[in-house]
Amino acid sequence: MATPRVAVIGAGIAGLTAAVDLARNGCDVVVFERAPVPGGKLREVHVAGAGMDAGPTVFTLRRVFDELFADAGDDLDRRLTLCPATLLARHAWDAGGHLDLFADLYRSIDSIAAFAGVREAQGFVRFADHARRIHQTLDAAFMRASRPSPLGLVKRVGLAGLPRLWDIKPFDTLWQAVAQYFDDPRLRQLFGRYATYCGSSPFEAPATLMLVAHVEQAGVWYVEGGMGRLAEQLAALAARQGAQLRCASEVRAIHLHKGHVHSIELADGERVAVDAVVCNADNNALATGLFGRGVAHGVRATPRAARSLSAVTWNLVARTEGFPLAHHSVFFSSDYQAEFADIFKRGRLPRAPTVYVCAQDRVDDSLPPANGMTPDAERLFCLINAPAIGDTYEFTTAEMEACENRVFELLAAAGLRVHRQADLTQVSTPSDFHRLFPATGGALYGPASHGWRASFTRAGARSEIPGLYLAGGSTHPGPGVPMAATSGRLAAACLMTDYASTARSPPAVTSGGISTP
Ligand SMILES: Cc1cc2nc3c(=O)[nH]c(=O)nc-3n(C[C@H](O)[C@H](O)[C@H](O)COP(=O)(O)OP(=O)(O)OC[C@H]3O[C@@H](n4cnc5c(N)ncnc54)[C@H](O)[C@@H]3O)c2cc1C
Repeated sequence: MATPRVAVIGAGIAGLTAAVDLARNGCDVVVFERAPVPGGKLREVHVAGAGMDAGPTVFTLRRVFDELFADAGDDLDRRLTLCPATLLARHAWDAGGHLDLFADLYRSIDSIAAFAGVREAQGFVRFADHARRIHQTLDAAFMRASRPSPLGLVKRVGLAGLPRLWDIKPFDTLWQAVAQYFDDPRLRQLFGRYATYCGSSPFEAPATLMLVAHVEQAGVWYVEGGMGRLAEQLAALAARQGAQLRCASEVRAIHLHKGHVHSIELADGERVAVDAVVCNADNNALATGLFGRGVAHGVRATPRAARSLSAVTWNLVARTEGFPLAHHSVFFSSDYQAEFADIFKRGRLPRAPTVYVCAQDRVDDSLPPANGMTPDAERLFCLINAPAIGDTYEFTTAEMEACENRVFELLAAAGLRVHRQADLTQVSTPSDFHRLFPATGGALYGPASHGWRASFTRAGARSEIPGLYLAGGSTHPGPGVPMAATSGRLAAACLMTDYASTARSPPAVTSGGISTP
């Protein structure tokens, strides 16, 4: 069988993961990335000479990467230093006080009991157990499967598994589900917030997203040196398997011959003949013709109303006082419903945003004395959710100033004073994200997971076009670093299976735990 030549478009997590599996299975792989460095959303910025994360900061499900490295005959622990977090996150409200959740479930139970009473702690025990069951039901049968459909899911769990499927409460919203466990509105906010990990509103996302709570409870790790190291190590692993990475190389077209992928064309006009393409760009880029009209029918476009959340982020180096920041802290808005109505219904920045703060130098909630910064300053990453309108509207300076004031006033109301300086702050808006990730409007998580059907309408690894495969946060099983990695592996496995069957040879080895019908 001839060696398949595969172009991977995009060196995001899924593109790199696909490249690892394809190269180790003998494909001739080139990854084309328009940015100067690999990583995609997993990106670093520099403020006052300090590199810091400006994308994902919560690293979960490390086993996905353990498996990827092990399948490639390598060892994640040899390449990256990962430390388990003891304190998962600190949560604050403007009325004062804070609630910590811990990796140790029993500590979280005690913490909730002290914060909101024993009844709420009992609700948490039931909630955590249900979240675990949902994760167990959907992990292999849905998330690691390449062709999700309601019927396919029923087939996978079998007749005996039907009660378990009903138990995931597919038709409730996450907000309705959390109300069954918690009376305290603060806890409803806290556990409803997991919908935002998939770029969605807790008021519209299905209750199944409770599984995100389980994923976090199962472990959060600090990556020494920042999340950027993960992208570097994935790129290095792909290179060791024989893949080639070409950064600053934008692909502008995918060409077909007799309906099959035939070549790609770069922005400078260079053409590269290929047998297959794995596209790690947002699916909407394909669907709206950014790779040429010929392949636009390969996947459905994301209607504007179905876009997931965007964000406004601030990377800054600053001194803080008042509130004991943890590595991950969340400061909740006073009116959660209004926050999501502003974003999803009115398409504007929330008047009362919830603010996530990552204090990147802290281990749990302590700041090591030698944090590499000036003695009393630290690296902070602040994020609020925002509407994905970056393709049609650029926020004015006045709007951004008003938004920034609201954000830092909210933090101050909860006790956190941030002594920020304009020259030590770098801001990213939905328009910036749209420029970085074309055809998204700044939506960072593909289509929103709104309604029970949403997860089933997300594109699978195989597109409508022979030879064109999809991978990334806009593809099944969805956004988030481990999910994107899983989608990359699924795309590679589907490609290898299809290539082997067209060549009438036995299927090539596919990666463990991934199922391709
Ligand atoms: C601010 C922020 C915070 C987040 N927080 C978390 C978190 O805490 N935990 C978590 O798990 N997830 C988080 N996420 C989500 C997570 O980062 C993403 O789901 C995941 O990284 C997406 O990976 P991907 O494979 O879809 O590729 P992407 O990161 O989307 O990368 C796609 C790549 O394709 C490239 N590309 C696009 N078009 C072309 C072209 N024409 N030619 C060549 N290259 C092209 C792009 O430049 C990009 O590098 C966060 C995301 C953001 C932005």
